[in-house]
Amino acid sequence: MSENLPPCPECASEYTYQDGALIVCPMCGHEFEETTATAETTDAAEAAPKFLDAVGNQLVDGDTVTVTENLNVKGGAPIKRGTKVTGIKLLDEPVNGHDIAAKIPGAGQMYLKCSVVKKA
Ligand SMILES: [Zn+2]
Repeated sequence: MSENLPPCPECASEYTYQDGALIVCPMCGHEFEETTATAETTDAAEAAPKFLDAVGNQLVDGDTVTVTENLNVKGGAPIKRGTKVTGIKLLDEPVNGHDIAAKIPGAGQMYLKCSVVKKA
């Protein structure tokens, strides 16, 4: 792998080489520091981590999780803490703030929040 060093700013020679922190031109003897034209681009707009479970584990599609608290279900039996849910599906577009779709034993297809489950 050859490093892509900048040409000498004095004589424009391309035969520069790295010597410690400096770049040295063997043609004219000029030594210079590499200008950091490629400054590290920290992506400020980096998306906040999504789909983290109650303890901060990254969840992925198809994960098996357990419910960490008793959940009331409108018009149905509550989902008990510790209920195991297999094959979760993560929703890029949350439904009413719920970002997991899953089939829950005894409850059927439901939406959950990542914050109330823990990766099994
Ligand atoms: Zn030079």
